Amino acid sequence: MDGLEVDSCERCPALCESRSRIVNGDGPDDADLLFVGEGPGENEDETGEPFIGRSGTVLDDTLRDAGLGREDIRITNCVRCHPPDNRDPHTDELANCREFLEQEITTVDPELVVTLGKVPTEHLLGRDARVTEEAGSIEEARIDGTPQRVLVCVHPAATLYDGSQKETFTETVATAAGVIGAGEGDGQSRLGGF
Ligand code: SF4
Repeated sequence: MDGLEVDSCERCPALCESRSRIVNGDGPDDADLLFVGEGPGENEDETGEPFIGRSGTVLDDTLRDAGLGREDIRITNCVRCHPPDNRDPHTDELANCREFLEQEITTVDPELVVTLGKVPTEHLLGRDARVTEEAGSIEEARIDGTPQRVLVCVHPAATLYDGSQKETFTETVATAAGVIGAGEGDGQSRLGGF
């Protein structure tokens, strides 16, 4: 890994087979908010940019409503290579890429990591998670031995097939904005003992 970018890596044979390119994180290297998704989808694999397409549009619209732009945040994934048939990354693949994710989190040193969906939430918290029920809660993860605040969030795509998730997603992004003093979210008041 060179800085925040992985230029070449062949740790995951199946993902090397299915990817067109490695998709690195995007956004300021000193962002206060670092969003973490599962892995690149087809659009991301084609372009090399994380979170574009319909999920990216939902994210951008929701960030805007919370007083933020994409340029204000950094966004990355648990694995940087597109899994075949859009399957979830396997446990060994998540482990293979963990070093890169941890290095990115450590380098950016954000106020808050926001996990988009079940896979990144369980990966960073190291436990099973019911994301729909836990969305909006701020937990603590250990990143390379250091405590890191993590805000649990549903995946933006969930709002596309389940309208009831839209409010949850919107409120959680507003909480994230509040933590860094943007928008009108109540994040600071929810940090509690952190
Ligand atoms: S997913 Fe990560 S660890 Fe696996 S091949 Fe891609 S960059 Fe390497």
